[in-house]
Amino acid sequence: MKLFQFALLFLINLPLYAETKPDVDIAITKSRDNTWTLTYQMSRPANRLGFVRNPDNSRIERWKPVSSDFEIVFEEGKEYLNKKDGTSFEHVELMLTPTYKHLSKDYAPFSPYSDGGVLIYTGRLFACIDKCSDNVNDWRVSMNIPQGEHLIVNGKVYTKSTNWVDRDDGMNVYVGRQKPIETDSVIAVIDSGLPEKIQSSLSADIPKLMVYFQERLGKLSGVKSTLYASYAKVDDRSSQGGTLPHQIFMHWNLNDLNKKVKDAKFISQTTWFFAHEVAHLYQRSKVGVLYGESNQSWLHEGNADWLAALALLDLYPKTEEYVTEKVGRFKKHCVKGLTELKLMDAAKKGQFGLYYTCGLLIHQAIDQAVQKKSNGLKNIYSLWNEFRQKVEQGDKKGPETFLALVEQYASKELVVRIKVLVETKLSNPEDTLSRLIADK
Ligand SMILES: [Zn+2]
Repeated sequence: MKLFQFALLFLINLPLYAETKPDVDIAITKSRDNTWTLTYQMSRPANRLGFVRNPDNSRIERWKPVSSDFEIVFEEGKEYLNKKDGTSFEHVELMLTPTYKHLSKDYAPFSPYSDGGVLIYTGRLFACIDKCSDNVNDWRVSMNIPQGEHLIVNGKVYTKSTNWVDRDDGMNVYVGRQKPIETDSVIAVIDSGLPEKIQSSLSADIPKLMVYFQERLGKLSGVKSTLYASYAKVDDRSSQGGTLPHQIFMHWNLNDLNKKVKDAKFISQTTWFFAHEVAHLYQRSKVGVLYGESNQSWLHEGNADWLAALALLDLYPKTEEYVTEKVGRFKKHCVKGLTELKLMDAAKKGQFGLYYTCGLLIHQAIDQAVQKKSNGLKNIYSLWNEFRQKVEQGDKKGPETFLALVEQYASKELVVRIKVLVETKLSNPEDTLSRLIADK
């Protein structure tokens, strides 16, 4: 019997928590009246809980301890949950605010759908006794939902409740009544309140873009990706997209989308946004993301944007004018930004947008140089595929490995120029940028 149990456990590939029990278990309960309760249960007494992700201090506002004995404090850029009297605890409950909140360089905690459904981001909940470190990377998560609603976890639908082991960056979990639609390339949960034009574009363009990138970058490994598109009709002006392993999601938090879709430029911009996010899916592999630190985001954001430009030009030739105008605008933005700071400092100086604009120009220059050297036989995709292979074989993630390949596929001079552009404060960014493509 024991042996049988063991074999069964092995077969259904149960999580790894048999070895060491995680310190902090996470339980989420959504009640019928849309109250969200988060419970942390510790395996040993804790004086405080720290969190993996600390984009700002908004947990203080948005997470309300059920007992007034507890508080969330912000210290040296990080949030902590503790008891006001400093004593230890093994159990704590909090009420969450289930609305959209833009978090800079992080995933939104909740993305509401217009029919009352919602995406909840689990990485936001990852907590550790005292503080988090790279050694803690497993959380047992359970979720309870009201009757009549379902959960979508890893592309699978669950009614009532379910639990799983979560790790790394976590995932988005859908809670609501909308049934997912499965197509050849994705499982989709598209907000039925989105304008018809966006809904049809999501259903048609995302699969089309996935096929486009798959032909160039290879099939994604593992389970089929899930596409979540949500729309909260509120008085705001933000929209955000992102990807996590096997997930792509977009949220619109504004109230004039019906008016906006009448504008052709907005439609091109939306298609670009889709292409950019789909391209990100291909920057992951079985070893996780291929890129490195946040201050080197020109690598993945620039790549996703250059690939978006290529996809738009190939699949939607009418967007040519839009793309040309956008690349011109990116150049101006990049030049202006780099007169003020080094590209490497853009993240910490709140100029994250420069990784998109300067990054696109870097990838454009690489693509052109690679094509020229190989007489058109190779391009940015060939380079990226080898980059992925190298990282899978154990080479370092990020720009070091990538630039070594740029040297091989293009030239050492180009690598030097890119490094100057990224790492130094330029006296004449316009000149440096135009010399980036001087290899032509
Ligand atoms: Zn991006």
